[in-house]
Amino acid sequence: MESGLGEEASNESASLSGLSAVDQLGEDFERSLSLDAALSETDKATLRTFALKTDEHLTRRTLEKLPFAFPGAHVPSANHLRTRVAFLSGIKPVLYDCCPNSCCCYTGPHAALDNCPYCKAPRRDSRGKARSQFSYIPLIPRLQAFQANTEMATAMKHRAHGHTHKADSTISDVYDSTAYRSKLRQRVRVHDKELRHCHFSDPRDVALGLATDGFGPFRRRNKT
Ligand SMILES: [Zn+2]
Repeated sequence: MESGLGEEASNESASLSGLSAVDQLGEDFERSLSLDAALSETDKATLRTFALKTDEHLTRRTLEKLPFAFPGAHVPSANHLRTRVAFLSGIKPVLYDCCPNSCCCYTGPHAALDNCPYCKAPRRDSRGKARSQFSYIPLIPRLQAFQANTEMATAMKHRAHGHTHKADSTISDVYDSTAYRSKLRQRVRVHDKELRHCHFSDPRDVALGLATDGFGPFRRRNKT
């Protein structure tokens, strides 16, 4: 057993020997270095191009024509743009197969199905590839990105500093709702353990709302 572990360790160090110190620490560490040290001019140009592409819905074809329209300008290729922005943002989307008719996502109880349980459309094409996919950006990296942006982080404190509840039961914000207000007096529970602080007692706490199409979970919301 011991010799097996020793072999693994030595194989690992052999495979790392050709890598730089930063490579060995990994992608996350490199990203934090490049962000802490302020973005390079090249990265700034890449991000400006990305913002232009997404704000103006530029097609890949238009993007590829930009260097001809503006000779000498730094215009990254579409591929470089995608990979570099994905790297800098640190956000990795999770892809889920879904029905091409948008009936369902193949997750949870539907994860192993080969056909849509609603319209019976096949999940995959003749080559075994998903016919449609949903690109889900996990919640935690989104919240981290919001907090990393001064403007957004300030806006997110609206719950604690920007809204005052009026005692006359007027609803002017989601924070006037009975559900939210009752949480303010409730201690946080994690599994079976009751903690000493109440919900939303820290101004940075985030209240997450769920909105779905098709039904109204609260009586006060008569529109779905
Ligand atoms: Zn379907």
